[in-house]
Amino acid sequence: MDKIPCAHCQLLYSPHALKAVQTPEQNLYFCCAGCESVYFLLHSLELENFYEKLGNKTLEPITSPKAPLKTHYDTPQFLQAFSTPLGGGCWRWL
Ligand SMILES: [Zn+2]
Repeated sequence: MDKIPCAHCQLLYSPHALKAVQTPEQNLYFCCAGCESVYFLLHSLELENFYEKLGNKTLEPITSPKAPLKTHYDTPQFLQAFSTPLGGGCWRWL
């Protein structure tokens, strides 16, 4: 089955994964309530040209930044910056 784009983010989804919304002008499909809300908010504020500026691009979901590697905390630079040596291999965190 062909995928179709969400009316707001333009990411492609299987039709069964999208919510269909019928307006007087057209049938719209949204991947989530957030996309649906933003789409109608932009139209209510007459900011439809957002989609013209978006062109063929998609709106990728925000991803969490990668967690720093554990090895980052084991470096002498990290210990020096965030702790005080107490001697005997012990450190006090600032
Ligand atoms: Zn979407």
